Amino acid sequence: MGEPLRVLIIGGVACGPKTASRLKRLLPDSEVTMIERGKLVSYGACGLPYYVEGMFPRIEELVETPAGIGRTPAFFQKVKGFRSLVRTEALRIDRERKTVRVMTLDSGKEEDLPYDRLVLATGSSPVRPPLPGVDLGNVWYMRHPDDAASLVERITAGNLRRAVLIGAGYIGIEMAEALRERGLHVTMVEIFDQVMPQTLDREVALLAAKHLREKGVELALGERVVALEGNGNVGLVRTDKRTLPTDLVLIGVGVRPNDTLAREAGLVCSPKGGIVINSFCQTSDPDIYAGGDCVVNHHVAPITRKAFFIPLGSTSNKHGRTIADHIAGLASPFAGISATAVCKAFDLTLGRTGFSEREARELDPDIETIIWAGADKPHYFPQSRPLIIKMIASRRSRKLLGVQIVGRGDVSKRLDVAATALFFGATVDQIGNIDLGYAPPYSSPIDAIATAAHLMVNKLDGIARGISPLEAKRRIDAGNDVILLDARTPKECQSMRLPYENVVHIPLGALRERASELPKEKEILTFCKASMRGYEAQRILNGAGYDRVSFIEGGLLAWPFELTTG
Ligand SMILES: Cc1cc2nc3c(=O)[nH]c(=O)nc-3n(C[C@H](O)[C@H](O)[C@H](O)COP(=O)(O)OP(=O)(O)OC[C@H]3O[C@@H](n4cnc5c(N)ncnc54)[C@H](O)[C@@H]3O)c2cc1C
Repeated sequence: MGEPLRVLIIGGVACGPKTASRLKRLLPDSEVTMIERGKLVSYGACGLPYYVEGMFPRIEELVETPAGIGRTPAFFQKVKGFRSLVRTEALRIDRERKTVRVMTLDSGKEEDLPYDRLVLATGSSPVRPPLPGVDLGNVWYMRHPDDAASLVERITAGNLRRAVLIGAGYIGIEMAEALRERGLHVTMVEIFDQVMPQTLDREVALLAAKHLREKGVELALGERVVALEGNGNVGLVRTDKRTLPTDLVLIGVGVRPNDTLAREAGLVCSPKGGIVINSFCQTSDPDIYAGGDCVVNHHVAPITRKAFFIPLGSTSNKHGRTIADHIAGLASPFAGISATAVCKAFDLTLGRTGFSEREARELDPDIETIIWAGADKPHYFPQSRPLIIKMIASRRSRKLLGVQIVGRGDVSKRLDVAATALFFGATVDQIGNIDLGYAPPYSSPIDAIATAAHLMVNKLDGIARGISPLEAKRRIDAGNDVILLDARTPKECQSMRLPYENVVHIPLGALRERASELPKEKEILTFCKASMRGYEAQRILNGAGYDRVSFIEGGLLAWPFELTTG
């Protein structure tokens, strides 16, 4: 028998422990060492906002197995069979000698650890904006259990009442909910003029913003923070438009890949940041692997191999598996990612997979989009909740390019169907035909994602002529001489209406007889609650010889602007 394979892993949160655990299952004789400069390994960073919110009482649960056993170095040694060295930092890699110089942080002692295969799972670090005052007290980044623990400690001490969150990405939104649930007044400042600017298209982001405001989050969109001020602790946030008094600041403006070790070792990295890897997660040195937040990802093959940086725990764990498999001689390439992300925002779930509309247009100028609104279950079911789905497809190939979903209903099921479809390069016609499970507690006979795909098919085929709410608003605001045809029942119209004078009510059931009341030369925009009847009204009017008719996609459910109620 030869010498055991020595595998050294740098980084001990998601990708590192996943690699180590699988490797020991595949190659029990290998000698695996994981080093981590922090004091904890294998913690669930994704659970931090929910701890702050108070959903579970002990932060230790983030570093425990479901059976309540701590994922400590001793646990990993005993149960998984690999060594973890905490409070140990990797200083540099010597690729010639195949060693890594490490320092034990508590003693300052340095030594060289040898490897046959090296794995870089060094993750990412929060971007620290170069603002005056960022080093004041009560300024947090949410990255490590210590951040969440200290924040909760300060809040429960009872002296933090107002919070300013800088950045309206998913961590900012999850933290806004957490802090509101803790009773704080929350203002969110975002330099872009919408929430989740890297993730959601404008009309979907507007719906999310509407909900955040309803939940008491003040949004300062399109504002740049210029300074934090205070005496010891932060007391004020200055933006280019106003001054916000505050007791705490939480900065969530993105992360940067920790690729310095790799760069200094001469490994190929992207000029924008991130280690470049192949589909087996090998770097430009085949004996050095990298995965998780420190690498550049690729979109799944059916769309394009475009490179991009999207750091997620889901990907980090899959990279760990790929690395272990390849080291163990199993051929299981990583297919790439489709940027699938899902996030809770109070009563809403926000999700996205594939490309946004802007990204899709950069790849393929000939795209089509639709917005579909409806319920996730039959209307008679008490748990039926609305969903709004935006779908983007190529006109030429009819392949799905991207999906965004927002709603109180089960977003993640539909998002995962869409992600699967994207992964396999499905056309929208195929999505409409997938054999999805149906029973009233779970879905409609034709599930929401399939119905959205049918709408896309109808639009691509020229049957459905929909326009987005943004386009409808643009036409209305531009003073176009349009008729807004509301196809709902009189009772429905009493509770909620579009706030415009040029609205005409003709219930769908009466439209065939009353179509002649409408002038043929004017542009007509039809709608209803979700625009199913709006779409049918468009077809009825087309049949009656009206050509200038479109329906407002998603109807009032997806209308992201003000509505008149009561
Ligand atoms: C609040 C929050 C919520 C999140 N929610 C989600 C979510 O809902 N879904 C999702 O998919 N993702 C989520 N994420 C992202 C997810 O946590 C990360 O993608 C994941 O942790 C990345 O894992 P990683 O192992 O690549 O890197 P990291 O978690 O960054 O770990 C890398 C480790 O390497 C160590 N290290 C770096 N350099 C060295 C060195 N030179 N020597 C020794 N050690 C070193 C670091 O100390 C660090 O502990 C969330 C993140 C946060 C912060």
